[in-house]
Amino acid sequence: MGKILGHLKTITAHKILVGKLCFRCHLYRQGLTHDLSKYSYIELKTGFKYYTGKASPIDGEKRDKGYSLCWLHHKGRNRHHWEYWLDDGPEHIIAQKMPYKYAIEMFCDGVAASMIYQKADYRDDSALIYYESHRHSRLIHEDTDRLLTMLYRYLADNGLDKTIELIRKGIDY
Ligand SMILES: [Zn+2]
Repeated sequence: MGKILGHLKTITAHKILVGKLCFRCHLYRQGLTHDLSKYSYIELKTGFKYYTGKASPIDGEKRDKGYSLCWLHHKGRNRHHWEYWLDDGPEHIIAQKMPYKYAIEMFCDGVAASMIYQKADYRDDSALIYYESHRHSRLIHEDTDRLLTMLYRYLADNGLDKTIELIRKGIDY
């Protein structure tokens, strides 16, 4: 029971926080629907089984089985993940450019995850440090990568309010 409640609390707290950030960026529909598939049976099953309270249950499932059906289900349905936009071309996999609204949702997701995982240690540069440390293993369209790097850096230098102001104005992308 502890794991079930713990997992539900974690995903709901994350969803509410991303929702608030999306609303501030005027992405109302995405603010409401963000990560809804986490409440599906297949994703909940992994969440409950591998819940630790410290790390993602998906990482636990991958360590155990070598792959995570939960993650494959999740990234195939949620357009704010860069992995959703990987498509096969004639010779190799191609990373498609993420539409602006999904790139912004990905930005909000990164900020919320940093806030929730780091708690009192969260700073304006937390999301930038996380994004940059995972960059080498990502296959993401160069324009999308440039936009996200710029936004996380802008956040680190100017704070959240100013960054959201910039997002609302719209950025050439
Ligand atoms: Zn997600």
